Amino acid sequence: MKYIDNHDKEEGCVFCNAQAKADSAENLIAFRGERAYVILNRFPYTSGHLMVIPFTHAPNLEELDSVTRAEMMELTARCTTVLRGVYKPQGFNVGVNIGKAAGAGVLGHVHIHIVPRWTGDTNFMSALGETRVLPESLEDTYRRVREAFAAD
Ligand SMILES: [Zn+2]
Repeated sequence: MKYIDNHDKEEGCVFCNAQAKADSAENLIAFRGERAYVILNRFPYTSGHLMVIPFTHAPNLEELDSVTRAEMMELTARCTTVLRGVYKPQGFNVGVNIGKAAGAGVLGHVHIHIVPRWTGDTNFMSALGETRVLPESLEDTYRRVREAFAAD
């Protein structure tokens, strides 16, 4: 599947910049673990499109230590738990784009995409082309996901 990963022309790394800010609907970080965190995708494929990101700025998984990788997988599972509770999805796409050839939008800082899916959403999305019409604002998604992590 195609993940929308285009970011504004921002100075430095968008993820390092986000993690340096206090958590709010501005930086979109919903949960912080010890070595990784959960952030909303600013250009979501569907509502509830999350990403798990290590605090370490590294371009691929092999440059992370095994403790960080393990926590990223635990956080990925927690994302699916939280999203099931909030959005009742019928499935998920979970994936990592590593390198430009694979379509990574933020090349320097590896991240795991977690995209909730519903039967028929692909047809609906493709009919709309690149303009994604989502049923709720990023602020609403942020509030719901952050509260669900706090309660999980
Ligand atoms: Zn970074």
